[in-house]
Amino acid sequence: MASLAGLTGPEVFPWVALAFGLCIGSFLNVVIHRLPKMMEREWREQCAELEAGEPGGSPAPPPKTVAVAKDRYNLIVPRSGCPHCGHRITALENIPLVSYAFLRGKCSGCGARISPRYPVVELAAGLIAAYSAARFGFTPMAFGAMLFSWALLALAAIDYDTQLLPDDITLPLLWAGLLFNLWGTFVPLGAAVVGAVAGYLSLWSVYWMFKLVTGKEGMGYGDFKLLAAICAWLGWQVLAMVILLSSVVGAAVGISLMVLARHGRDKPIPFGPYLAAAGFIALFWGDVISRKYMPILS
Ligand SMILES: [Zn+2]
Repeated sequence: MASLAGLTGPEVFPWVALAFGLCIGSFLNVVIHRLPKMMEREWREQCAELEAGEPGGSPAPPPKTVAVAKDRYNLIVPRSGCPHCGHRITALENIPLVSYAFLRGKCSGCGARISPRYPVVELAAGLIAAYSAARFGFTPMAFGAMLFSWALLALAAIDYDTQLLPDDITLPLLWAGLLFNLWGTFVPLGAAVVGAVAGYLSLWSVYWMFKLVTGKEGMGYGDFKLLAAICAWLGWQVLAMVILLSSVVGAAVGISLMVLARHGRDKPIPFGPYLAAAGFIALFWGDVISRKYMPILS
């Protein structure tokens, strides 16, 4: 039997991390799918309560303890099912990557196509874990890098789908970054704290300048929180690089979308996925980039 030391050695640990990451990816798929729906339900309930409380509003709804218990909806219940036929996904059909390959991307109940997005997210989460493990070994840095990158992956997908960056992810991500850096895991604590503040304020100022000049809103508060979180992990030193990377890639993709797909000029293009990608790049290759291409900033 392999000892714990055997599992954490440099040859084995990346493979253990890969398997673990694939399972996390499976969970991230649930988060990406359900968290926006959970937020919407909460908003609806709050709106209904507000309306009921107003004079002349519709009468108060019946006590909803029973109804709420019946259609509980969170990250754990109900069990995942096919959106077409409601077929409950069995444990065997829930193995990351393997099940998708075996089912040939189709529901075993009705044959409806399963989005390739599921195995892609699983694979990405697995590769992130394996790469972090190979790069940093069995250290707090490896686990921090996994946590940070998994959160960015979920945020990018949710923002892409819904133009939302849930506080339920961005804020814990920020605190986790500060906690990891209590012992200087990635950067000294001072750099992390200044990073969190500067990250938030920089985009906040851009937002207000843009709004004063054009009268439009270019981005949302979720973007400020995400950049604050990224800089809480990596320090204020990456701020300029992350903003530059995300704007350049975002502008390139945005312009090509407008030209190629005739993406409406007024349709919002979420900025979160680019911020997340830039944060990910800054974590693993930030030092190389700043040494090679941005000697003035480093
Ligand atoms: Zn089905």
